[in-house]
Amino acid sequence: MLSKLKILLILVALSVGWPQIILRFESLIAPELQLFGLAAYAALLGICLIGIFSAAFIPVAPVRWGFALFISLSGIMVETYQSSVEDHMPYDAFISMIDASGSLHEAWGQYASAMMIGGVQAVLLFLGIGLSIHHVTKKHSKKLIAAPLLILFALAGILFIRGGDGARGLPSAYTGAAYGLLYGYERSTEVIAPREPVRLPVVHPLNGDGDIVLLVDESISGHYLDINSAHGVYSGLMAPKSGVAAHNFGLASSIAHCSAAVNMTLRHGGTRDDYIRINGSMPSIWAYAKKAGLETVYIDVPRTKRVFNNMMDESELKDIDQWIEFDDVPIQRRDHAAADALAGFLNDGKRQFIYLQKIGAHFPIHDKYPDAYMRYKPALPRGQFLNISDTGDREGFSGSRESWITYRNSYRNTLIWNVGAFFDRLLGQADLAGSTIIYTSDHGQNLHERGGTGVVTHCSPDPKPEEGLVPLVVLDTPQAAGQPGAIDWDAAIAKGRNRSSHFQIFPTVLEMMGYDAKAVQAIYGSDLLTANTAPFAFNYQFNARLGRAPSWKAIRLDEIAYPPDSDYRPVPVGQRGQAIAARQASPAAPATGTK
Ligand SMILES: [Zn+2]
Repeated sequence: MLSKLKILLILVALSVGWPQIILRFESLIAPELQLFGLAAYAALLGICLIGIFSAAFIPVAPVRWGFALFISLSGIMVETYQSSVEDHMPYDAFISMIDASGSLHEAWGQYASAMMIGGVQAVLLFLGIGLSIHHVTKKHSKKLIAAPLLILFALAGILFIRGGDGARGLPSAYTGAAYGLLYGYERSTEVIAPREPVRLPVVHPLNGDGDIVLLVDESISGHYLDINSAHGVYSGLMAPKSGVAAHNFGLASSIAHCSAAVNMTLRHGGTRDDYIRINGSMPSIWAYAKKAGLETVYIDVPRTKRVFNNMMDESELKDIDQWIEFDDVPIQRRDHAAADALAGFLNDGKRQFIYLQKIGAHFPIHDKYPDAYMRYKPALPRGQFLNISDTGDREGFSGSRESWITYRNSYRNTLIWNVGAFFDRLLGQADLAGSTIIYTSDHGQNLHERGGTGVVTHCSPDPKPEEGLVPLVVLDTPQAAGQPGAIDWDAAIAKGRNRSSHFQIFPTVLEMMGYDAKAVQAIYGSDLLTANTAPFAFNYQFNARLGRAPSWKAIRLDEIAYPPDSDYRPVPVGQRGQAIAARQASPAAPATGTK
């Protein structure tokens, strides 16, 4: 009877995490059946269940209660997180949550119901495992004690090899316990340390009164823009309004090919060899800005309603003076609303550091531009994605060869609107006097210019070089150039055109704030004025902690697949007014380049 009660309690506890198990199974079945993954997941889930049930029948009461306490407490944080965001808790999020545990009382106000769910699950599991068993036989005692522990170490070992990945859909208790072991390991080896305060001295205080803007676009491939290609799309940056200079670094390599990784490193700095420690334990760009006397402004265009984007958390928020979002602006107009807001900050006479995360051209791009901007045709069908800023879901896009032609045309139209018209609007209102804007994109895109089918544009396990190919442009005025400590951008471009990297941006921004260049570069590597001697490559194994090493994808400029002009028919001169192009009848030949 008691055994049945124990089993029931455990099953009820585990059923709290049921949605994650369903999600995991679904992801392994659709859109394509992954037999190996399915078998591996089922085996791992089964083993974790064996671990929990063996623990429940350990005859030695103190050991049983001890394990019950340990495993049920371990699960609270994971279950709380998963029931509040309705998604799996990755290892990174576990670390952030531990770091933020100081503000537990604030979290309680916001996530009380999710924390209750985590707590109830823990109590049920604690009792289910811990309660005494009637017929005590010491026969399998050793095995019953060894099994749950060995399973825990095996799980931690698997997660170690996979850099923390692999616990999706497993019981929260085991996930939490394994994360705890990995965290303990990383703390003891000092990969993770509490975030440091700013230690560098400001050596050039009051080095100008202009703003410093980091303008980070989303999914903009550098080689699609007119500044980098003769057949490129209007960017608004070829000849900006008089008085504004656009210093074009040409094609640059991104830090990684996924949004969160890149934005996290742009906000915290990092070198190729040491970005995990720097990302996790060095001061944020906001902290540096504040110490240098700048007001800090974060403009997040894709997200609304105070949802964190790209691995930001409560603790990072503490150094942000103004967090701007556009809850009421339709997605199609949001980048333009951000241009207005940015112009306002540039014109307000206060010295500010502004980080603007644009909406850019992330999937879905069917509806990211107004009808009047459909200059390239045929484009993707309209009207279904007006309210989605970005998603990993590719529903509504087949990924066929034909559909990629329309995708590239929609992409071009989106660029005219969210890059070209964006800069026209921004520079039409903003007085840049003394201010500097560094413009780039988080990563590039693989829009299947080489042919082939599939639906992935970036963040792929086996990336194409174009996924890490981004624009890099600095906008300023002669007034900014004249400031003490100002960077000679023309000299920088002479050294860095078509070979610079995202990694050089963070140290550059710190120097512009007034920090000593030598001290900055000793920690964060070379700035944009120093010729980049590192390989022209991006990291496609960004989560390279524990047993994983980064993997670098080299970009060779002579192997870049430029978008084929055969996607559309050139519009005859004289009809450019409503320049609607149509593709030629013959199918596009795959662009030359390596596989
Ligand atoms: Zn992105």
